[in-house]
Formats: sequence, C-alpha cells, structure tokens
Amino acid sequence: MVSKTGMRGVEGGVIGFRLDEEHEELRKSVEEFARDVVAPTIGELYDRGEFPYDIVARMGRMGLFGLPVAEEYGGMGGDYFALCLALEELGRVDSSVAITLEAGVSLGIMPIYRYGTEAQKREWLPPLCAGEMLAAFGLTEPGGGTDVAGAMRTKARLEDGHWVIDGSKSFITNSGTDITGVIAVAAITGTASGGKPEISTILVPSGTPGLTVAKKYSKVGWSASDTHELSFDGCRVPEANLLGERGRGYAQFLATLDEGRVAVAALSTGLAQGCVDESVAYVRDRQAFGGPIGRFQALQFKIADMETRAHNARLSWYHAAARMSAGEPFKKEAAIAKLTGSDAAMDNSRDATQVFGGYGFMNEFAVGRFYRDAKILEIGEGTSEVQRMLIARELGLST
Ligand SMILES: Cc1cc2nc3c(=O)[nH]c(=O)nc-3n(C[C@H](O)[C@H](O)[C@H](O)COP(=O)(O)OP(=O)(O)OC[C@H]3O[C@@H](n4cnc5c(N)ncnc54)[C@H](O)[C@@H]3O)c2cc1C
Repeated sequence: MVSKTGMRGVEGGVIGFRLDEEHEELRKSVEEFARDVVAPTIGELYDRGEFPYDIVARMGRMGLFGLPVAEEYGGMGGDYFALCLALEELGRVDSSVAITLEAGVSLGIMPIYRYGTEAQKREWLPPLCAGEMLAAFGLTEPGGGTDVAGAMRTKARLEDGHWVIDGSKSFITNSGTDITGVIAVAAITGTASGGKPEISTILVPSGTPGLTVAKKYSKVGWSASDTHELSFDGCRVPEANLLGERGRGYAQFLATLDEGRVAVAALSTGLAQGCVDESVAYVRDRQAFGGPIGRFQALQFKIADMETRAHNARLSWYHAAARMSAGEPFKKEAAIAKLTGSDAAMDNSRDATQVFGGYGFMNEFAVGRFYRDAKILEIGEGTSEVQRMLIARELGLST
C-alpha cells in the first residue's frame, strides 16, 4: 500500500518507511544535484557570504520550489513530504542552500498557498514556484521572537483603502535578495475580543515605498543565505493585500511554524547525515600510526553514534510528516522531530569536526561549515526550549 506521504504504509500492522518510486526518484535527483552542482561551488560562496543565485535558479527549474503546490498555480502537484526529502538531501551537502529553499517554500509560498485569495495565488505563486522570485515571512521583531505575540510592535492601520504599516522585523530570511518579490508581514491591526492585539498578515511587495531592507547580517553560519532586518515607515499597500481573514494572523503563523518545523527537522537530519558521509570517507583515507585512522574503534564508535542519531532523526521527521499528510494532529510530533533533528545536527557536527582533527577547523572542509551551521537549528522556527514547551503542553502540562 502506498500512502499519500510517498512512504509504504501500514502493512500487516508494521509501519514501513520505504519510499515509493516517485519519491525515491526525486530524492535521488536532488542527491545528485547536491553532489554535482552544490558541493563543488558552495564553499567559495559561503566564504564570500554570497547568495547562491545560480543554484537557486537551477533548483527553480527542477521544480523544487513548487513541490507541494498544485499544478494550476505553477507547482509540481506533489506533497510536503517531497519537499522535506529534497531538504534532507540538500542539507547533507549545504545548509545555506537548504534553508533558502525551506524558507522560500514553507515560510514564503505556503502561507500564500494556504490562505491567499485566488487573485493573490495567481499573481504570486507561478514565479515563486519557478524559483524566479522569493517570498519571505516577517514575524520576528527586535523585542522578541519566542513571545512574538506579546513583543509585536509593528502596526497596520486602514487609510483610504490602503494598509499603512509602521514597525520593524528582525532576522528575515530571503528578504533582501535581487529576486525577493514579496514579504508576508505580521502586524497588529486592532484589538481583539478580551483586549488582546488583533494580528493579521499583509503582503508587502519588495520595493514598496516605506519598506527599508537593512544591510545583510554578518552571521555565525548560513553565510550564503540571505537575512536582513526590515523597517516599515508609513509603508502603504492596497487593502486587498491582506492575507486571509483579518485577525487570523496569529493562527496562520502558528500553523505555518508547525509545518516549518518538520521541514527544518528534515534539513537537520541532512546535516547530521552529511557529517557521517564526510567522516566515513575521511577515516578511510587519513593515515596515523601506520594505517587509516578508521581502524581505531574509538573513531568507529563515534561514527556509529553519529549514524544512529541521523537515523533516529529521519524516523522522527518521517513520522511527523506522515501524520501531517494524513490530516492527523502533528504538533507534538513536529516538535519532537525538530528537537531530535537539531540535537543530532549539533552533536554530529561537533563529532565530525573532532574526527577531522585540525582539518576540521579549516574552512576548506565541509565539516567546519556544518559545525557553524548546526547551531541555528536549535534557534530558528522555535528554539529547543520552545519545542520542549510544546511537547509538555501536548502532554497536558502547563505553567
Ligand atoms: C539566521 C536566522 C534566520 C531567521 N529567519 C526568520 C524568518 O525568516 N522569519 C522570522 O519571522 N524569523 C526568523 N528568524 C527568527 C527566529 O525564529 C528567532 O530568532 C527565534 O524564534 C528566537 O527568537 P529570539 O531570537 O527573539 O530569542 P528570544 O525569544 O529572545 O529567546 C532568547 C532565549 O530565551 C529562551 N526563552 C524565551 N522564552 C522562553 C520561555 N517561555 N521558556 C523558556 N525559555 C524561553 C529562548 O528559548 C532562547 O533561548 C531567524 C533567525 C535567525 C538567527
């Protein structure tokens, strides 16, 4: 039996995780692309902090940005599981490229696809799915990302048929590239019942007067990805740019982040697996005390632990994605998958760097890049503390 997720489903009470033909084909083609196109070029772009325009264009032509979107909007008519598979394969080789796709689809495209009007979908989705344009998701503010509803200061008011936006956003991925086309901005649009802020999402096209994209951040990792602070000063967009219903912004971003966590978990699994790939090749080659260092059991055990973590991380995101595709609740599973994946990525990148010795500390080897890239996986799209809070809450525990 082939399930909607692209995995073989429950047969005789046993859950199998063998990919169906279509998904295995996709996985393989992204694996080849990552190995043949991304791996040879990304190191230099990363060192120079340059956005990988050519790689993004090629991913667009492969259809990766449109994987979970219906064909009538320029997508591939696939599913979210397919996107996650692609993210895992890209993450095995490089996280800047993988996060550009992850943020482009799960944070950029999906809110428009899920909540947009027909006109918004027809306008934005075809170029976004083709990878000719990128969308960003502006939620986090300088005052706080975890308590984002409490910390939100960005406001939008209706004036002469336009939303007028004032405020600022921090750390927004894909917001300042040459091909960024639109940013979904969460803003306070009034007061909801009970006196709480009413939050809505508004689409702001790039280049709108009053929107300022600040200089690119200098980051510890993800150096070839694009991240900026944004400010809005009397930024006017048509009233029709409201995404979905007024006052539904909070629910929209919670749902977007739940899905995004599964995608980040897949990316994290890729990074964890990439550490295994690099380490196995290195210990076969590197010589010490008259032979390859791979004969030392201390290193074998380290690599066995790394493989175990990557394997568990994969099972965890497969499970969350399967529940999501089946329309079952998946909040807890998504949080578990993100926690498991980011822990695996952190631990494996530290161990892989150790396996490489001094070369692990050199930028020319991928494991050093993996080490720098792993840390953000414990922070973005909900910190590890937030994942634990969500899991505890799903168990009926609250503060
Ligand atoms: C490279 C990068 C890309 C990003 N891309 C985007 C993007 O595209 N769009 C977007 O909107 N955001 C983006 N973010 C923001 C990211 O989601 C936030 O950084 C993250 O949610 C944490 O928010 P914060 O940085 O404000 O930390 P804070 O919320 O200030 O948290 C600081 C620390 O306190 C802990 N903490 C806070 N509250 C609690 C609590 N109740 N219990 C226990 N611990 C708590 C946190 O876990 C953390 O360890 C990005 C961030 C980075 C670094």
